[in-house]
Amino acid sequence: MIYADNAATTKPSQKVIEAMVACLSEDYGNPSSVYTLGQRAAELLQNARERVAKNLGCDPSEITFTSGGSEADNQAIRTAAFLGAQKGKKHLISTPFEHHAVLHTLNKLEREGFEVTYLDVHENGLVTAEQVAQAIRPDTALVSIMFANNEIGTIQPVGEIGAVCREKGVLFHCDSVQAIGHVPVNVYDLKIDFLALSAHKFHGPKGVGVLYTKKGIRLQNLIEGGAQERGKRAGTENVPGIVGMAVAMDDAIANLDKQATYVAPLRDKLIDGLSKIPHSILNGDRTQRLPGNVNFCFEGIEGESLLLLLDNEGICASSGSACTSGSLDPSHVLLSIGRPPEIAHGSLRLTISEDTTHEEVDTLIKAVTEAVEYLRSISPVWRNLQEGKQDFIIQ
Ligand SMILES: *Cc1c(COP(=O)(O)O)cnc(C)c1O
Repeated sequence: MIYADNAATTKPSQKVIEAMVACLSEDYGNPSSVYTLGQRAAELLQNARERVAKNLGCDPSEITFTSGGSEADNQAIRTAAFLGAQKGKKHLISTPFEHHAVLHTLNKLEREGFEVTYLDVHENGLVTAEQVAQAIRPDTALVSIMFANNEIGTIQPVGEIGAVCREKGVLFHCDSVQAIGHVPVNVYDLKIDFLALSAHKFHGPKGVGVLYTKKGIRLQNLIEGGAQERGKRAGTENVPGIVGMAVAMDDAIANLDKQATYVAPLRDKLIDGLSKIPHSILNGDRTQRLPGNVNFCFEGIEGESLLLLLDNEGICASSGSACTSGSLDPSHVLLSIGRPPEIAHGSLRLTISEDTTHEEVDTLIKAVTEAVEYLRSISPVWRNLQEGKQDFIIQ
């Protein structure tokens, strides 16, 4: 099997699994309990908080453990909207290519009377700090722009956007779920006010993540109950998950250079190989992209059929985000960069990791090339294109 869907989730490392098993079997106390077993769990929690904070360049008091990236995104946006509304500020700025955890929260706020400006996206999958500066109004409460896109891998100019927001006194939330462990991220340098991350995107466990909130910002609860997480996120802490996340994060950050020196060149090899397929196009900027992300559109094929053929070859790939697979709507991300729906339907995302080998990339190139050829050989659309009855969109 070749696992090439690391943007959907990653394989937990052996180190992570061992740390979690030890925690589950021995350190099972409730961190709120006063006896030694409970206090041992509380220590593990505090230790994990300190390590996560160090990796982000912030203070441990600015870390809130959540059930993952989606919850962190929801809580950040809800908090900023609440704080803005208190001052009569009900305008929000974002992009149309955000993760649904952000987009659907914004849609809900729109129905609650907020106004959202979605910035126009350049064909390369990037927005600029100038666009943000121009969109900010006196009543803007929040700018929410993701660090790196989960489908096309583009990396936004986060430092420049953070500087604009800080200068104008507007809160900045950065969904950094795809960036953490793949590119360097320091919340102070980048002037980020809220940051969401998720352990299962960097070889940690599922169902655990972090919301970083800059000191001085009063978080609003999504979940009411006990006093865990300084009263901002009720519920007995997922201690094994949090311990596993800290181990995974330490490992990912310690090996960041591998992303640039090993994964990125492997990605480029994969891009070069797939570019040779006629009437194909890379989605997202060639260089401003995540080290492991490859995303193509192939004219005249259905992405879903391609995935099934690849699955037969033991290849795990995606046509977009895992969250939208199964629906027949074309990817909102590909539409946002101007791909027509019929082209967006023929997309393939391959996301590799430091575990991917050169041989696997050779196999991927061969398998995708053959599968696209086969699908085109049985496609009526492709025949029309060949016979000139229909014009190619991808040259
Ligand atoms: C995976 C992902 C999320 C959601 O994280 P979960 O932990 O799965 O809830 C949010 N944003 C981005 C960019 C993601 O890739």
